[in-house]
Amino acid sequence: MGKFLIRLIKKNKKFFLLGKVLYFLFAANLFSPNGGRKKYPKVLQLPITYRCNSRCVMCNVWRMDHKNEFSVEEFAKFMKDDIFKKVESVGINGGEPSLVSNLPAYAEKILNLPSLKYLNIISNGFIPQRLLLHVQKIYDACKKRGILFHVSISLDGIGKIHDAVRGRENVFEKTVASIDEIIRDQAKYCDSYDVACTIVKQNVNYLVELDTYAKRKKYNIKYRLGIENKRIGNYDLREQYSVMEAPFRQSAIEFFHYLMHHSEHLSDRFKYYAIFKWLCSEKPKRMLGCYWQEEGITLDSKGNIYYCAVASDSLGSLRVEKGKKIFFDRKNIEYRKNIVKNVCNHCIHDYSGRPRFQDVWNFLLYMIKDNVAMKFYRFKARFML
Ligand code: SF4
Repeated sequence: MGKFLIRLIKKNKKFFLLGKVLYFLFAANLFSPNGGRKKYPKVLQLPITYRCNSRCVMCNVWRMDHKNEFSVEEFAKFMKDDIFKKVESVGINGGEPSLVSNLPAYAEKILNLPSLKYLNIISNGFIPQRLLLHVQKIYDACKKRGILFHVSISLDGIGKIHDAVRGRENVFEKTVASIDEIIRDQAKYCDSYDVACTIVKQNVNYLVELDTYAKRKKYNIKYRLGIENKRIGNYDLREQYSVMEAPFRQSAIEFFHYLMHHSEHLSDRFKYYAIFKWLCSEKPKRMLGCYWQEEGITLDSKGNIYYCAVASDSLGSLRVEKGKKIFFDRKNIEYRKNIVKNVCNHCIHDYSGRPRFQDVWNFLLYMIKDNVAMKFYRFKARFML
């Protein structure tokens, strides 16, 4: 009966859309988290190395000290810490994860987490053979444990634009080779993939070309704004990359407006609407959810723990103390409350999490109004000719 109902709904496009809207609405939060609840984290962000072969205009990670990073043995001990016992989703990033020669061995330790359901990795794809070998091995291990594996590759423009954002010559072809191979034989590498573009001054006026290129090549491309982020130490680079000031801000607004109407998935449309409204406002308010407000943890390659990567200082080190003691420490929880109260509204990082019901509701009304206005305009235009 259930399956029959789902098939019927899928066949009827309007029912299907209504189902999606209702699901989206009821998955929303009635209240915003204030950062004060002591919950075990469900998501773990894992910068597995500070080493990087990219020289991105919006990032200083490659300048950071990468000595004394954890060995597989030490990492295995960290993964056994109680603080990770409810983690369902892990995101491996860096630096560049594919530079870690025994990356699959680290992934094996992650897969031992008792509540794990999802594993994600983000890479610049500059060394296709090495990356693909790593992800193939990790995916084989994921399949054995029933863990879903997602691969994300960064692509910030076509040809020289991508190279300019990444600060390296002739890397566009290599990145594209990685993406194309993953798409060509996805069953070998991952359950799902996406291509991630970070919007900065250097590419903001070339995004329509990139989007057209991506569509032509059937890339599942997502966009995010380049923003200030403590973990990657990019505060002093703002002038160099940020699109927050005129005239770049207007280009970004127009592009997010375009995405809001042309993205396939409702959740993406909401995300782009939230970024669009945030960019348009003089007193921005975050509408996107964020797990890091209460349910996220960041662990770096030296055993340091943070709340979110964007705003949190290091809270302590697993080399010194147990994770639970650090994560739930009263002073640290007060610190997180302070982040949620004073920083989150200024943060437009595309982290996910459950948004507020009221914001989802406003988004749906906005889309309906926009749709009706467009239909009315088309109707009027027929009589103007
Ligand atoms: S500052 Fe940004 S990333 Fe950090 S908790 Fe707030 S919304 Fe999330």
